[in-house]
Amino acid sequence: MALTEFSLISRFFAGKTHYRSFTHLGIGDDCALLKVPDGHQLAVTTDTMVESVHFLRGTDPRQLGFKLLAVNLSDLAAMGAEPIAVSLALTMPEADEKWLSEFSAGFQTLASQFGVDLIGGDTTSGPLTLTVQAMGLIPSGLALLRSGAKPGDLIFMTGSLGDAGLGLKMAQHLTKIDCQMALQRFNCPMPRVQEGIALRTVANSCIDISDGLAADLGHILELSSVGARLDFDRIPLSAGVNKYLKETDDWSFPFCSGDDYELCFTVAPEKADLLKFACTQIGIIESEPGIRISRNGLIDSLKVKGFEHFST
Ligand code: ADP
Ligand code: MG
Repeated sequence: MALTEFSLISRFFAGKTHYRSFTHLGIGDDCALLKVPDGHQLAVTTDTMVESVHFLRGTDPRQLGFKLLAVNLSDLAAMGAEPIAVSLALTMPEADEKWLSEFSAGFQTLASQFGVDLIGGDTTSGPLTLTVQAMGLIPSGLALLRSGAKPGDLIFMTGSLGDAGLGLKMAQHLTKIDCQMALQRFNCPMPRVQEGIALRTVANSCIDISDGLAADLGHILELSSVGARLDFDRIPLSAGVNKYLKETDDWSFPFCSGDDYELCFTVAPEKADLLKFACTQIGIIESEPGIRISRNGLIDSLKVKGFEHFST
């Protein structure tokens, strides 16, 4: 039997386990109902992925479902929010049963890992466009903002830089380097949810690296009216990315390649001892605007821009 709008919703998205008591009403009515517990704020974020803009045509739907949720949970992590619920707006050229089944499996894999309830959405036909709205809880007043960095703060990041960028080059057959870890990071990034929560009372500012470190740290600097000095030798780079830099001589590559979904955050020096998870100090906040990077005993300014839609 052909899949119609309602049959596909009930088959692939409705009737899944609810992990959270906050979900008072899920899929099926005009709206879902969520209870926000006393003393908490609801953090809300939306991210869209468009075919040929955010992902290559023919991308494995299982990876797509995983990544669509991951990029949204990463925004919650960057605020220190605990993810509880998401809605999903799907626009597809056709209702392909196999595609939907794989997409939904990838989505549910990550949703079950973090106990996130799918509470509603919308399903329409059109060019492949995937949107999630994600909601998370933060104890009132503890959200990690981009505007809180202060001169003297140490700049840290989780994980390593540039792997997803290298994974994209591999997927586009633009490099001969074969690094499965980089491909995995590009296809299925793991949002730093626990780290974000742990930073609530430690960091002064935080952002997730979606458009490249230079661009994303740039947002913290702009909103905090400060600048930064990075130390190239401290930047955590995987063997694959190091190899890529040697081959291309493009040292700025990891700073302007996106999709890593690591957290970049700033911490007052006296609080650095409170960091209990793996992360690396990569620089320091200074009062002079801009990003400077010390490399081979010289100081370069880093003006690399990340990806921006509508830029020419
Ligand atoms: P409405 O016409 O009121 O917008 P819909 O008919 O679009 O409602 O959707 C019916 C129900 O299914 C709603 O509860 C909606 O939230 C849910 N829903 C629709 N599409 C999806 C989807 N892709 N994923 C999850 N829930 C969905
Ligand atoms: Mg609708």
